[in-house]
Amino acid sequence: MTHSSSDLFELAQKHIPGGVNSPVRAFKGVGGTPVFFERAKGAHLIDTEGKSYIDYVLSWGPMILGHGASVVTEAVHQQVDKAMSFGAPTELEIQMADKVCQLVPSMDKVRMVNSGTEATMSAIRLARGFTGRDILVKFEGCYHGHADSLLIKAGSGALTLGVPTSPGVPASVAEHTVTLEYNNPQAVRDCFAELGDRIAAVIVEPIAGNMNCIPPVPGFLETLREVCTASGAVLIFDEVMCGFRAALGGAQAHYGAQADLTTLGKVIGGGMPVGAFGGRADIMDCLAPTGPVYQAGTLSGNPVAMAAGLATLNAISEPGVYEQLSQKTQTLTDGIVSAAREAGIPMTSNRVGSMFGLFFTDQSEVTGFADVGRCDSDRFNRFFHGMLNEGIYLAPSSFEAGFMSLAHSDDDIQKTIAAATKVLKSL
Ligand code: PMP
Repeated sequence: MTHSSSDLFELAQKHIPGGVNSPVRAFKGVGGTPVFFERAKGAHLIDTEGKSYIDYVLSWGPMILGHGASVVTEAVHQQVDKAMSFGAPTELEIQMADKVCQLVPSMDKVRMVNSGTEATMSAIRLARGFTGRDILVKFEGCYHGHADSLLIKAGSGALTLGVPTSPGVPASVAEHTVTLEYNNPQAVRDCFAELGDRIAAVIVEPIAGNMNCIPPVPGFLETLREVCTASGAVLIFDEVMCGFRAALGGAQAHYGAQADLTTLGKVIGGGMPVGAFGGRADIMDCLAPTGPVYQAGTLSGNPVAMAAGLATLNAISEPGVYEQLSQKTQTLTDGIVSAAREAGIPMTSNRVGSMFGLFFTDQSEVTGFADVGRCDSDRFNRFFHGMLNEGIYLAPSSFEAGFMSLAHSDDDIQKTIAAATKVLKSL
């Protein structure tokens, strides 16, 4: 029997808080009912009533090859037939570690975990254990998962210690987190001048993707590197989202920047629940069992997840992949921005590799959280629903980046631009 999304959303709320297993899925920001999907192939999603959508969410980033890529599904089937989990070491984990360290040169060693949240939480503990310091510096508008130290906003003054953004986070944890303005090198310098010898780590999305898509301004990542090196703090690039999106070697390859620790997720799991953190050997060797910093996981390095991730990483290592992804993304964003111009609607876009952001604003540049906050979110919401109606699935929030996959054809992209042209004229 076919159930509509609204029937399913009703049923879901009986035993699932808010009807979803992760809040942004609930369409709270844009309003309306989340779409319940049944199948996906390539760039296309099919909902429970058989309606098809062109997908620019891609499971929030992982499906860089598109859905159901045969290299991935075959690797998964082969592994499932052998075993789903041992909780003991496997050769696949060596292949994954070698591959990740080859692709991201700042990573000498890597440990696999099961989500981006686990990766950042573990990297922060490791940085604190390594430095013997407590303070964590992060940036407004960046998201690094839902660990206690990270659900913190800035206090009232720029350098006051943080306050929790969620009930359940103790003030005594929040006080160790400082939140600074993204893309503001001077704020970083001021913070280090005051607190430098107490700072364990700086964590940053080197291309922010959780306040829509905001690339770093020239000098920002360089300043982070400089102050961390001078003070002995650990520089953590959270590449859970932007890793393997801007370039094969991640944002750090794209911008020529070097992290001490890097966190990964999404693409390295090829659609399976995977995260990873890694970096300098002297820091990574502080982890148990070699060192005293404890971190563990029953399903970490799970063979089915490793098979899916490795197949994905091998596929994106083929020559020409990044040129193709980048070209497709540019065609899409250029097409939509010019459709907006024709419709008389102010819009600008950001784009790095296969990540992009569309902003309903007359600002010529969008470089930070405050700029994103000034965009017209009501207009975005109407655009989102118009596009959904036309069979285009965008992230249900004006604060989320969009993603392109290798499976998006020219036809898909032209259909998307045509849909945007129609919807923008109606706004
Ligand atoms: N870091 C970044 C940059 C992310 O974008 C996300 C999730 N969107 C996370 C960490 C957390 O990852 P997960 O949802 O897998 O826990």
